[in-house]
Amino acid sequence: MIDERLINSDATDLKGLHQVMMEQPNSEKLCDIDMVDIAIGSGVAMKVSDAVKKLTVGKRVLMVSDPVVILDKEQRPVKERIKKVLEKNYQVEWLVIDEPDGSIVHCTPENAARIQEHLNNADCVVGVGSGTICDLCKYATYYADKDNSKPLIIIQTALSVNAFSDNASVMLISGVKRTVHSIYPKILLIDLDIVAAAPPEMNVSGYGDLIATWTAPVDWYLANVMGMNSGFHSAPSDMIRTQCKRLLENSEKLATGDEKVLADLANVLTLSGISMGLANESAPASGSEHVMSHLVDMASKIRKTGICYHGTQVAVSGIISSLLWDYLLKEFDPSKVDIASCYPDADGMKKKVFEAFDWLDEDHKAANECWSDYSKKLATWEANKDRLKAFLDNFDEFKSKVSGWVQDPAYIASSMHKAKAPCRYSKLNFPVDAKTARWAITNCHLMRNRFSVIDLLHYTGVWNEKFVEMIISRADALDAGL
Ligand SMILES: [Zn+2]
Repeated sequence: MIDERLINSDATDLKGLHQVMMEQPNSEKLCDIDMVDIAIGSGVAMKVSDAVKKLTVGKRVLMVSDPVVILDKEQRPVKERIKKVLEKNYQVEWLVIDEPDGSIVHCTPENAARIQEHLNNADCVVGVGSGTICDLCKYATYYADKDNSKPLIIIQTALSVNAFSDNASVMLISGVKRTVHSIYPKILLIDLDIVAAAPPEMNVSGYGDLIATWTAPVDWYLANVMGMNSGFHSAPSDMIRTQCKRLLENSEKLATGDEKVLADLANVLTLSGISMGLANESAPASGSEHVMSHLVDMASKIRKTGICYHGTQVAVSGIISSLLWDYLLKEFDPSKVDIASCYPDADGMKKKVFEAFDWLDEDHKAANECWSDYSKKLATWEANKDRLKAFLDNFDEFKSKVSGWVQDPAYIASSMHKAKAPCRYSKLNFPVDAKTARWAITNCHLMRNRFSVIDLLHYTGVWNEKFVEMIISRADALDAGL
């Protein structure tokens, strides 16, 4: 049974949330959320000086943003207003991070270093923007001084991703997307007057990021059952599942910018970030659907296109992942698995990883990076042979445990259609061609050391080109996929 108090969790009640989490069975697996305050509401960004005051007696504020002009509901320039309000009490340096070629700002260690150059002259950092600025600020402040990081406030300008309330940053390192440990913003301000005016596709992106709720937690649980991950706890996902379901039910209202639904989205997105913090890893909200999306991002440089809205792309991949889970739970036949052939040798897998990734660059960096992580997964898989047998023997038990954690793929796709979220890779803001999408789906399990349903299907001999095509055609029948 789910603890009733989890069902309607409120992201702004950090104390209450902590209390409920500490009362869960096995609560020692859940981490503390090292945040001071989360505020969601109309006008909360204008109280930024009070937020700084809570964190430091110092008078120097480093404000970080990208160059994008952001207007609020009343068409007022957001960043200029925040700077002005801060200047009443503080000495403010405004650092604008941009890319030399004018493209959308990337989350790279190089851009983080540009922030770090200014930290010595700051008592507090205020990041204003969407996911990239947030991840850069978290990474920059943490790695500048891990033991004594400059306090960070984030003013979130769109409900684009769930990453504002966690202690990790998704960085582009050597061309490969990596989730790295960083630090929580001490205070998160989500001003509904600002996020309501964000481009609708950005808020749809946040809704899309939450589609992972129907695949990532089950991937995480599966990894746990297989001995591939030991940190699983059900509470982080129990905390958001019911509210995510309500969002799906309100998909049509989201498309019209309904303010109540946007406020609900703000709450559940923030909780989703917190779910990763509780687990101290992104697994509760990032499974097979995210890794597919990461591969599409990795190919964008070679394809010379921009990077799509994260959550929107995750949701398109989420439909594919939900079809995989649907297959596993309804059609996978454990009696047909030949256990002896479930353990490929390392040389063969290394070859596969290099075939998948070596075209991404000339110095083999991407393929080496992927293999260094994948080889760990392969070794753990080998070391837990007894788990596979137990899983196959008790498959019905597994199915009944997770049946309430997944969602019918057709329902997910139809909800996304109602929310006006793209359901096909070719309909994303930077359309992804069929070849790239097929490559990403087929090879995503080779990229990192995180076990998902795809690894199980791969090791048990189900995963091959023909199978991927079958899943793609099932997606097509839902007006989704390529
Ligand atoms: Zn995400």
